[in-house]
Amino acid sequence: MVLAQLGGSISLAVEQMSNATIIDDNVMNQCLNEISRALLQSDVNFKLVRDMETNIKKIVNLHDLSGGHNKRRIIQKAIFTELCRILDPGKPSFTPKKGQASVIMFVGLQGSGKTTTCAKYAYYHQMKGWKPALVSSRAGAFDQLKQIATKAKIPFYGSYTESDLVRVAFEGVKRFKKENCDLIIVDTGGHHNQEASLFEEMHQVAEATKPDLVIFVMDSSIGQAAFDQVQAFKQSVSVGAVIITKMDGHAKGVGALSAVAATKSPVIFIGIGEDKDEFEVFDVKPFVGRRLL
Ligand code: GDP
Repeated sequence: MVLAQLGGSISLAVEQMSNATIIDDNVMNQCLNEISRALLQSDVNFKLVRDMETNIKKIVNLHDLSGGHNKRRIIQKAIFTELCRILDPGKPSFTPKKGQASVIMFVGLQGSGKTTTCAKYAYYHQMKGWKPALVSSRAGAFDQLKQIATKAKIPFYGSYTESDLVRVAFEGVKRFKKENCDLIIVDTGGHHNQEASLFEEMHQVAEATKPDLVIFVMDSSIGQAAFDQVQAFKQSVSVGAVIITKMDGHAKGVGALSAVAATKSPVIFIGIGEDKDEFEVFDVKPFVGRRLL
């Protein structure tokens, strides 16, 4: 279920519950069943959905509430709290500071949207007055990064001829530190699978550039399989934050978000389109409030 559809289904279920003349167990259960069904269709893990229902029923004990209580509000609040809980990793991410050079290394599988996301991240910060720069440490992807960077007027570094990509990353970071850039973004190689060579390359780039933050970029279409993918990357490199791409078109987006939260890795942005500004900060409460309820 794509994000807008999921939000529509959850809001409708809550609205129908709120419009009932009398709020009893039946009405509440029907509302929760509909929300659960919608979440399962978005590939949220079954256990998470079941726990959410159990918790809401525990928080809202209709028999203990006197007539004076606003049962609708209490149920709505419990639903909000539980949706936030499912999507909240409970752990903040390192946040770079404007004016202080930070190296941010991007990792992820090929096709996940990594290069596009490096540029979106740079552009987002540039619009807020930062001095970002892009370094391509990735075979065959320099042209793509160069094109995006040129369009967005962001300085970039890469090489068509140097085959030692670790060296390219090192040189790029060195240059932009000298030029007083405060956000040095390193795009790294991505393979189709989680092969050992991908992890080895990541290690070497991390050794050479000493990133302040490693961001794992992931395509939302894999849904709850994100759990295993994030864990695999975390075992190889110290992933400090996650960006989930293609939240605009995929049925399993919220499943992916909840799976990443379950790995206790903070999601900091989501990609919601191909353009450089189709990118938004991910913050659990506003996301649930605006997109799901
Ligand atoms: P990489 O191989 O991981 O660097 O992936 P790319 O950055 O080349 O992106 C792969 C494709 O996904 C491109 O066609 C991008 O335009 C597209 N893409 C990236 N992010 C998003 C997003 O948030 N939404 C949509 N719809 N497409 C995206």
